[in-house]
Amino acid sequence: MFTHLVGGISSAGRALPGRALTIARAAGPYLWDDEGRRYIDTALGFGGTVLGHAHPAVTAACERALRDGPLPAFAHRAEEAAAAALAARAGPLTRVAFTNSGSEAVHLACRVARAVTGRSRVAKMAAGYDGWYDEQALGNAGSAEARPFGNARPDNGRMVLLRHNDEADTEALFAERPDIAAVIVEPVLANAGCIPARAGYLEHLQETARRHGALLVADEVLMGFRLGPGLAAHRFGLDPDLATVGKAIGSGIAVAAVLGRPDVMAALEDGRAARAGTYSGNPLACAAVLATLSELERQDYPAFLERGEGVRGAVVAAFAAAGTQVSTTGFGSVFTVWPGPVPPADYAAALAAADPAFTARLHGAMRERGVLLMPFPFGRIYLSFAHGEADIAATAEALAASAQAMAG
Ligand code: PLP
Repeated sequence: MFTHLVGGISSAGRALPGRALTIARAAGPYLWDDEGRRYIDTALGFGGTVLGHAHPAVTAACERALRDGPLPAFAHRAEEAAAAALAARAGPLTRVAFTNSGSEAVHLACRVARAVTGRSRVAKMAAGYDGWYDEQALGNAGSAEARPFGNARPDNGRMVLLRHNDEADTEALFAERPDIAAVIVEPVLANAGCIPARAGYLEHLQETARRHGALLVADEVLMGFRLGPGLAAHRFGLDPDLATVGKAIGSGIAVAAVLGRPDVMAALEDGRAARAGTYSGNPLACAAVLATLSELERQDYPAFLERGEGVRGAVVAAFAAAGTQVSTTGFGSVFTVWPGPVPPADYAAALAAADPAFTARLHGAMRERGVLLMPFPFGRIYLSFAHGEADIAATAEALAASAQAMAG
């Protein structure tokens, strides 16, 4: 079917096992394929549509922005308003720079940190995925590819890797390389299968970074605004110098941002750090952010997370009823399913637990029953505010039938 589109997809994460699937449209919690079949969607644009697909208020705001012209080249009204709306939900991180993708935002945050500290190396979690831009070799260390490393710490002079949930490794890194500009961390290592930080780990990371003059960057492209109407880092008691957000803030429109303290973001104003971008902060993106944040403000996050916890429980119960033990990691609105009764507590355990055949079979069984799941081991099940009780019940039913089919 695809001749000209390289590999038939535009991003590696879109590859699906089994029969081809082409999506025709999406609304609320649903996707429809080319043949008109409806699915409950738990991939949600890789977590990018926390309000659900094509939310009417966001769509209306975007339509207005398109009619008024999507690319004015000069400053426009919605830009400051969208920045102010983000800043109002980001504690001391009151300065905002827009980009078009989470990868660009992480790239820009690294650049700001380097300019502020005068240092070149940025540390990131070996298992973490922080986008595909900065310093290709190590920045590309996506969750599925990154392997736990031995004594030789991967370091290309610009990016150096760190072991997640390992305080001794943090100390070792700064002893080896006192000249780190910043440490990037996801408050929950979502792309490695929603691995939670062990108690005290993030605080230690922040304290150690500070002690050595490095900045802390919370990469919240995935988690930001998914667990509450703000940053997960603040929810977990952290005080990052910079944060990156994306996905949830735009409801599917391409937009992301770097948030930072005024003294840190000053580097972008006084020329120490450069930025550009034809589409950065465009009216469509800003309209999407404004409409999304105002809708999210009205949502009941605790009830949302509780509904999701119900689905997590349903996954475990469905497999238990079929005589198989599975476990989950994460939170109600975003979690990963693991074969085996013990959820992994670190990346090495996650790699050991990952079973591509299990995940592909689960994907296939659920797809047959009208529910779409991400198909790879570190994938997440996402829920949106648009998933109602009936969708949750239908998902639980499909899970029960799939677990039985997989056991048979
Ligand atoms: N950082 C994190 C934590 C992500 O989950 C992602 C994307 O999945 C990115 C950065 C990159 O964002 P984007 O795909 O918008 O470039």
